[in-house]
Amino acid sequence: MKTYEIKVLKMGVVTVDKGGMTRGTDCGTKMVIPMWSIAIEGNGMKIIADTGVHSVAWVNENVSTVEGCILEEDETMEGALKAIGWKPEEVDIVINTHLHYDHCGNNRLFKNAKIYIQRKEWEFALDPLPNQKQYYMPSLFAGEAGNGTNIELIDGEFEIAEGLVLIPTPGHTRGHQSVIINTREGVVCYAGDAANLLENITSNIIGNILDDTPEAFKALADIRRKAEFVIPGHEPLIHKYATDNFLAIHG
Ligand SMILES: [Zn+2]
Repeated sequence: MKTYEIKVLKMGVVTVDKGGMTRGTDCGTKMVIPMWSIAIEGNGMKIIADTGVHSVAWVNENVSTVEGCILEEDETMEGALKAIGWKPEEVDIVINTHLHYDHCGNNRLFKNAKIYIQRKEWEFALDPLPNQKQYYMPSLFAGEAGNGTNIELIDGEFEIAEGLVLIPTPGHTRGHQSVIINTREGVVCYAGDAANLLENITSNIIGNILDDTPEAFKALADIRRKAEFVIPGHEPLIHKYATDNFLAIHG
């Protein structure tokens, strides 16, 4: 089985109400959370999963459930790529777990990449439920940001290459997907917001930004079944530029 190397990229932090990520617990507790993207390399490919935020000012002004968006110099997508020695035009594939503003904000940088998005997510993003409208900004993923023709809308589980598989993990959004990556250490799941925090997986708690409750629980179960380690989309326990020692799912 082919293996891949992962490098975790930090796309800044925001302050949120923890209850937004752990439904029914810790409401009213403020928490500073990172926004993680990952760089995946192997099998002759350079891949980015999720592309961070496009504008700190836009986030602070427009998203009612977050405050205090801050990016260090190497936490913009351009800065993070430079730090790991990648050029945006070298990236072959971009994966969006979903199209919330903090997961696709820099898609436009990747002029030569094929962008994998679930078709259901694309449709939901263009016509979201009222409670999710503020998280979707079509100019970040459609039109020019999609670079015209390089968007690949997929339906369900999709093997990009041996050892690298996209699995549907809806619930948080209609067409959310997670990335299952075979590494030397074992099978790692980049969860996106199917699990914001490790606690979502280990304590079986869903988030509160939600499209479908049963699907959200099923997504957590699928991740537990398919992976040994997890990189939750907003978990403070993960380290910037980490390449291994991800969070164990099973004890
Ligand atoms: Zn999200």
